[in-house]
Amino acid sequence: MSTFKALMITKDDAGVQHLDWKQLTEAELMEGDVVVRVTHSTINYKDGLFLSAKSAIPRKSPMIGGIDLAGIVESSSHAGFKAGDAVLLNGYGLSETHYGGYSEKARVKGDWLIKLPAGIDAHHAMAIGTAGYTAMLSVLALEKHGVKPSDGPVLVTGAAGGVGSVAIAILSKLGWHVIASTGRPEEADYLKSLGASEIIDRKELSEPARPLGKERWAAAVDSVGSHTLANVLAMTKSHGAVACCGLAQGMDLPASVAPFILRGIALLGIDSVMCPMAHRLEAWKRLATDLDLKKLDAMTRTIAFSDVIAEAAKIVKGGIRGRVVVNIA
Ligand code: NDP
Repeated sequence: MSTFKALMITKDDAGVQHLDWKQLTEAELMEGDVVVRVTHSTINYKDGLFLSAKSAIPRKSPMIGGIDLAGIVESSSHAGFKAGDAVLLNGYGLSETHYGGYSEKARVKGDWLIKLPAGIDAHHAMAIGTAGYTAMLSVLALEKHGVKPSDGPVLVTGAAGGVGSVAIAILSKLGWHVIASTGRPEEADYLKSLGASEIIDRKELSEPARPLGKERWAAAVDSVGSHTLANVLAMTKSHGAVACCGLAQGMDLPASVAPFILRGIALLGIDSVMCPMAHRLEAWKRLATDLDLKKLDAMTRTIAFSDVIAEAAKIVKGGIRGRVVVNIA
């Protein structure tokens, strides 16, 4: 392919961002030692912000969106990869400082790439995407802290979203009693089909929190932040742990120190973007064994590359259920 299609944001002199479909040549790509023919990408919350063309996500202009990609290596001068390898990439500044996955071709650092784990093809890798890999990082963090299903239930907030849906599927397979918090009661059957045992209305958690509340769960995966996270902490059982990975309600944390100093609760921060490679490899290895692909399929829709802008507008309004794969090829 001499030229290829990419979705690019350019900032004009007045600081206004313009989102355009472009035809690029390989020479116009950014630096890297591996060229990938991108076959699939996905839509995460951050991609929705990027494609709103009003966000602070792109830190350079021009910039190509898409924090995730999967595809086939076309050429490589990196010792770890050769032409024909099937690979995936999550984060590492894609769509912020380096051209991302909304492009039929990408040139990236081989150090950022992961070979597709056995049993996971490019479609499933992007059905998982950063959202699903973040859910797995959250589960790993809880495990490393030492909480286990016999300690009590686990709460998942933002349950019907991408991180939430994958977290429910993984945690239920690992034997946890999963409580799903959602603002979409109509998705109760969907959440139960993924493995949730109880559904609660997110309104129970979204108002300002008291320092401590009734102890309701031993662990939590929170993709919502703000008052919700404060309430989650206040209602976590003594010596439990909460993995904090998102900000769907807000970036603030209006909480007190009471859960930490009176109940020994641990707040575990999750960063997928610059997560060290060893942790990524561990997460992808566990995704290959601990995520039921039938449940992944049930939570995933596939869209054409040309539909990505319209779909992305929905995710920032909390309007997407589960995961969306973007068929780039
Ligand atoms: P989604 O939009 O798919 O899911 C977010 C969910 O949060 C929604 O589906 C909704 O669930 C809930 N929600 C939305 N708005 C509100 C609100 N105002 N108050 C309470 N709940 C709300 O996004 P993702 O799953 O892709 O990402 C979730 C969050 O995690 C985002 O903030 C994202 O930036 C962050 N994230 C962080 C990463 C990291 O590296 N730390 C990596 C990936 C994501 P429901 O309808 O069930 O209530």
